[in-house]
Amino acid sequence: MAENNRPSGKGYWGRILWVDLTTRRTVYEDVADGVYEKFLSGAGLGAKFLWDRQKAGAHPLGPENVLGFTTGLLTDTGALFAGRFTVVGKSPLSGGWGEANAGGYFSPWLKRCGIDALFFSGAADAPVYLYIDERGAELREAADLWGLDALDTEIRLKERYGPRVQVAVIGPAGEKKSCIAGIVTDRGRLAARSGLGGVMGSKNLKGIVAAGTRRVGVADRAQINRLSKEFQERISGKKGLSRFLTDGLLGTLGKITRRSRIFPRQPADLWRLLLRKYGTTAITAMSAESGDSPIKNWGGVGYLDFPLSRSQKIGAEAVRKYEVKKYGCFSCPLHCGGILRVADGPFPIPEMHKIEYETLCAFGSLLLLDDLPLILKVNDLLNRAGLDSISCGGAVAFAIECFENGILTREDSDGLELRWGNGPAILGLTEKIIARQGLGDILADGVKRAAARIGRGAERFAVHCGGVEPPMHDPKFDPGFGTAYACEAAPGRHTTASYTYLDLQFLEKKFQQARKIPALTTHREKYRTDNKGEALAVNTFYKMLIDGAGVCLFGTQIGGNYPLTELLNAAAGGHRTPDEYLLVGERIGLLRQAFNLREGLQPRKDFRLHPRIVGEPALAKGPAKGITLDMEGLTDGYYKALHWEPATGRPERGHLSALGLAEVVPVLYREDNH
Ligand code: SF4
Repeated sequence: MAENNRPSGKGYWGRILWVDLTTRRTVYEDVADGVYEKFLSGAGLGAKFLWDRQKAGAHPLGPENVLGFTTGLLTDTGALFAGRFTVVGKSPLSGGWGEANAGGYFSPWLKRCGIDALFFSGAADAPVYLYIDERGAELREAADLWGLDALDTEIRLKERYGPRVQVAVIGPAGEKKSCIAGIVTDRGRLAARSGLGGVMGSKNLKGIVAAGTRRVGVADRAQINRLSKEFQERISGKKGLSRFLTDGLLGTLGKITRRSRIFPRQPADLWRLLLRKYGTTAITAMSAESGDSPIKNWGGVGYLDFPLSRSQKIGAEAVRKYEVKKYGCFSCPLHCGGILRVADGPFPIPEMHKIEYETLCAFGSLLLLDDLPLILKVNDLLNRAGLDSISCGGAVAFAIECFENGILTREDSDGLELRWGNGPAILGLTEKIIARQGLGDILADGVKRAAARIGRGAERFAVHCGGVEPPMHDPKFDPGFGTAYACEAAPGRHTTASYTYLDLQFLEKKFQQARKIPALTTHREKYRTDNKGEALAVNTFYKMLIDGAGVCLFGTQIGGNYPLTELLNAAAGGHRTPDEYLLVGERIGLLRQAFNLREGLQPRKDFRLHPRIVGEPALAKGPAKGITLDMEGLTDGYYKALHWEPATGRPERGHLSALGLAEVVPVLYREDNH
């Protein structure tokens, strides 16, 4: 094992590990302080090294694709909410920048191995896993683990190495190189998006065992402790109010939002109380009612096709009946998670993580299914298989609509009667997707590829953004999401920017550059496209900072003014202003965009949203009645604020240089130089 003994006092180790799976060699590499100053750690470090070392044109499922696991700059520094890791690589779904992150406990354990990130290249000739601690790293044979589901793999590895290790593994979906597979930690938490579990499977890499015990040093620990304590005090109030929050009240709020056609300022204090009490399940019924949730493969209307009487059957209170204890990730004071137990009925489950809103919607309102025990069973299967529930729900919705329209038959589905709300058929098809069996094999690579293989006009029902199934938030409700879905380097991403987040994060107060953020109080105001670009750009830069720091998005959305930039200064030293940090976020975003352009993607064309997401044609009823988003206008405004060329999305030459990315210019402007 190669040893690592590098000390650090800036919240990072200044060291990464490269693992060549083909040769089975591991090599530590020192990273200069300047890299962290420019990109932080986490997703920023991932962007930097994928830009520098990834060969353009690499096949996403080939040995040349580089797969990185990165920890945040604030991870394990004593900062609250700072336990997330980010996986990066070329996505088999979009063909461009791939990124997924998750919480749990894996990230600090990896960082305690004395590295900030771990990059895999090549492919092993037989299944392996990586064992790593602060003394070094070694690839070990994984033949006995191959074929096990993700939860059993974790159990087996913890039996082998003891409970004081953390693991990140793939399940059967990743092994079978499904393009919608994710990476599993903490017995069922997923870094789900971008198909990076399939990339891991293509490398014959079953998992990583992180057994580090060394804490990273920081510049000013007393300041981190003080900032964290003050923040915790600010978010601990008003707990008593949560007893007044019920599913009925939330449904009524959704109804009021729909009927009044206002777009209320998002109350961060309420969101905190909801997350603490229910987790993200809180919004299930409210979103179906308000128009936030997509319904019936993006073609339906919530209050007509999936009214409150049905959405509440899978809503917050219904899920809470199964909760046996609360769960919080590393360094989290909020505990939005929970552990569920289904003791009886047709689908008993001894223990599983609380289901998230995204999964409830992807297998609920999207499929018109209100059978909660069956949805929980599906969730457990997906966690074990290591499959992205958003993409899988989208794939099932696509198949159902193809079936309803005669494009698929019972012969194609091996006898499954694929109808809206048909629970047994939905469960059966999910099992087929996991096993890559029959129609499931076609769907396991996402709806875009499935439609191409099926033909016969199936692409009409393949709802995707640049090959990625969209998350469960309708941009016709919050057009900010539409901008992110279409313009993000990782398309179809609901965590980057939206009007909702702008409100919840109070960004207009945090950053002077964001002072022109409009108040979105009216229905009409939110569809204006001439005044949104800068606000959404600031929102994006802030998210890049969050991911570079390894912070949970919710920590920044629950009031209390999360002191992100102050914590970064306390960890790394220095006195950078919030606006200076915003430039760091922008720089990370620029590199991700440059990555896509180097791959030959044309974002404006390749990431065009499916017509249903945009409202083409507009729906005749419901909250989105008559609405067609002006995606051209939204994209123009966003690109302009980012200094990206309007037609191509290529960052302007001068802007790249001004942000310290002059080395990118010759690559993006190659043809202009001849
Ligand atoms: S708020 Fe929820 S997702 Fe975020 S760190 Fe806490 S438990 Fe994890």
